[in-house]
Amino acid sequence: MGGLGLTHARTVSASAYMSSFLSFVARRDDIGYAEHIVPPIGFTNSAIILTEFTGGTIPITKSWSTSSLAAGSFTKDHCSQHWWASHIFPQIKLRLMSRCSARDRIKLQRLQDPMAGSWLTPVPCEALGLSFNPTEFQTLLRWRLGMRMSATCESITPCGKCGEPLDIFGDHAVTCKLNNYHARHQLVVDALARVLKSANIPLEREVPINGKERPADILAHRLQGSPPLAIDVTIVHPIATSCDHLQNRVSSAELYKHRHYDKLCHDAGLAFNACGFSTFGGAAPDAQIVMRKIKQRIAEIHGKAEGDTLGDQATERIIVSVMRGVAAQLIEGTPSADQVTPTDMVSPITEVSSGDGFMGFHESMQPQTASIAQCVAAQCPQ
Ligand SMILES: [Zn+2]
Repeated sequence: MGGLGLTHARTVSASAYMSSFLSFVARRDDIGYAEHIVPPIGFTNSAIILTEFTGGTIPITKSWSTSSLAAGSFTKDHCSQHWWASHIFPQIKLRLMSRCSARDRIKLQRLQDPMAGSWLTPVPCEALGLSFNPTEFQTLLRWRLGMRMSATCESITPCGKCGEPLDIFGDHAVTCKLNNYHARHQLVVDALARVLKSANIPLEREVPINGKERPADILAHRLQGSPPLAIDVTIVHPIATSCDHLQNRVSSAELYKHRHYDKLCHDAGLAFNACGFSTFGGAAPDAQIVMRKIKQRIAEIHGKAEGDTLGDQATERIIVSVMRGVAAQLIEGTPSADQVTPTDMVSPITEVSSGDGFMGFHESMQPQTASIAQCVAAQCPQ
């Protein structure tokens, strides 16, 4: 469920078997196999599993599970494991989303945001800020996978910074205003400034606008032509008190800032960008615009065409800075996280077999699994 690129063998075994067997049948003439082919028991079993996995959306699998393979009943698509995967994974995802907790549902949605996984892939380089120490990386992997962040951090344990109750998933740690909250913001502003400078974009820091301290963390000149762009970096934890998984809190935060600062900036002859990121690493629409512009500028500098991957490293530097700030909060805000043992680090979502061939998911019945209400109750006011 963490999207780390690993697929359980049970999930793909039926499609692998079916595509292999049908490929053999399709090529029997090419290899000179003239004998009558009787589908083995594995074919029937795979057809039953695939019927379950695809939710009956591919009717032929039901026929294969009750009768033998009729001539001409399969196509070239059925010989492709990739084709089966394109039908199975959306169904598994639907089941997962309908059965997991509200918190996991929100997290899974935000993990699909643009750039949300881009902190996992950069080649580590300390000089560019593209590296994590082992503790940071392990902590962030737990965070992404929805594992418990602490063995002893129950809701009755107070936060060492503010005294509010903690929670086992780290929701309070990343929202506590006294736990590296402003340091996290500054880390991202610093990284963005460095990246803009590397793209030869002139900038000013902490620029008051019409006598107000905010909103320009960075005032970037010539990033998107004129007028200059006031960038107000925004980092939001998407687990919401309303538990409304339909509302994207990160995009909403950007819209909120636009309502407050668009006119102020316009009156000062500036454009405004709220540049929002989630604590899971995803980039909201304004942040995507900034990063796209930076990539375009870097491509121009090096004489490359738009869409060239040369600027990917620049945007990775920004996302890595977001996640380094989150890691610092999780490490410091859940003080016993380093005491978590492998048996404690169980995901709240567990893959199960129902015994009828369908390997689905259900919510773990672990007593330690906090409800969304507990998570929310443990958050500081935003
Ligand atoms: Zn706190």
